[in-house]
Amino acid sequence: MTDAIDATGNPTPRRKPKPERTEIGGRPLKPSTLMMGHGYDPTLSEGSLKAPIFLTSTFAFPSAADGKRHFEGITGKREGGAEGLVYSRFNGPNQEILEDRLAIWDGAEDALTFSSGMTAICILMMAYVSQGDVIVHSGPLYAASEGFVAKVLSKFGVTYVDFPAGASAEEIEEVISRAKCQAGENGGKVAMIYLESPGNPTNALVDVEAVKAARDKVLGKPCPIAIDNTFLGPLWQRPLDHGADIVAYSLTKYVGGHSDLVAGSIAGAKKWMDPVRALRNTMGGIVDPNTAWMLLRSLETVELRMARAGENAAKVCAFLKDHPKVTGLGYLGMIEEASQQDIYDRHCMGAGSTFSVFLKGGEAECFRFLDNLQIAKLAVSLGGTETLASHPASMTHLSVPEDRRAALGITDSLVRISIGIEDPDDLIADFEQALDYV
Ligand SMILES: *Cc1c(COP(=O)(O)O)cnc(C)c1O
Repeated sequence: MTDAIDATGNPTPRRKPKPERTEIGGRPLKPSTLMMGHGYDPTLSEGSLKAPIFLTSTFAFPSAADGKRHFEGITGKREGGAEGLVYSRFNGPNQEILEDRLAIWDGAEDALTFSSGMTAICILMMAYVSQGDVIVHSGPLYAASEGFVAKVLSKFGVTYVDFPAGASAEEIEEVISRAKCQAGENGGKVAMIYLESPGNPTNALVDVEAVKAARDKVLGKPCPIAIDNTFLGPLWQRPLDHGADIVAYSLTKYVGGHSDLVAGSIAGAKKWMDPVRALRNTMGGIVDPNTAWMLLRSLETVELRMARAGENAAKVCAFLKDHPKVTGLGYLGMIEEASQQDIYDRHCMGAGSTFSVFLKGGEAECFRFLDNLQIAKLAVSLGGTETLASHPASMTHLSVPEDRRAALGITDSLVRISIGIEDPDDLIADFEQALDYV
């Protein structure tokens, strides 16, 4: 394949797509179209329609001068990062194609991929905090994210202030002001505002626009707003359009979508990605080529899968809503609070397919329901092709102290469901028969 590469004039054996169509008749191509080929030129890989998996630890330089130039980019001696492929801890062809395609969904300039959602979140936070700094975050966060801030970053003199998802603009501004004072006392700064919306498993939404307004008023621009968009992204919520600077994902969920891989990503403007890329270069944690290839396959169907799962969830929730054994639903398609509906209308393009259902009774009744499901599988995680159900109070949120669980509304009667792409009538029949055991 070196001949083909030389013929394009590409100075290094690096993926360099030929100019590709991004519009037809002046109309920009949609993400679902771009997922079939963006960032990959088959002529550079023997005409292989799909990108090969590049299993290599290192990349040969055409000349010593090229090697020097690449290292100037990697080490930050020159702006703009590496111009070519160097070593697989830094980047690789499969990962670069994946990052180009992920950026499209969020309208981001750049994206970075990681070996898991938590690797992405931990390296993101570490890239931005120094001793004495404060992180402002919404609550609840994914338990491991909350734990990383409270138990790991705290060892290095980083503190946090949090506010509940669903807080008003005034409350958010008050919390950010408090964080600014706390940072002043500790000799640091407010280093990051970190959000998760909707919160898990309550589905409470954060008003990203209000957070941005409060950040601009109290702190000014240098403090990035990052948001974990795993539950609604990339299809149903585009936080960069509403004032977030960085969007984070567990690609393990809807984007991977088949419950067969673990990976993560972040996306945003290059200036926000560069410090994180530098730390990823040092620590490692980039997604491996095989998983990147599987994610490219998944991205071709992500819109189809999410659209179907969303339609299924609406049908299942319409059935559950009126069932006598169901006492409540935490589903974004049936919001009861006006302020939450207002955030939904401004921020969301769809209600998602992950929701909570409150059953008559407590743990015993929920367990009977879960143990009698025939189609839905009893497992944590979400966003896969198959429907999953779990009991947060005794599983994902078992480590959360009881009083905090109560404050978050995670009761013993709550079951969390992630709807897949099965036939919706089969799913309804399954829930109907399992509810008989409650
Ligand atoms: C699963 C999940 C994570 C962690 O992702 P991993 O890929 O399991 O590391 C982070 N945030 C949210 C909201 C998640 O659901």
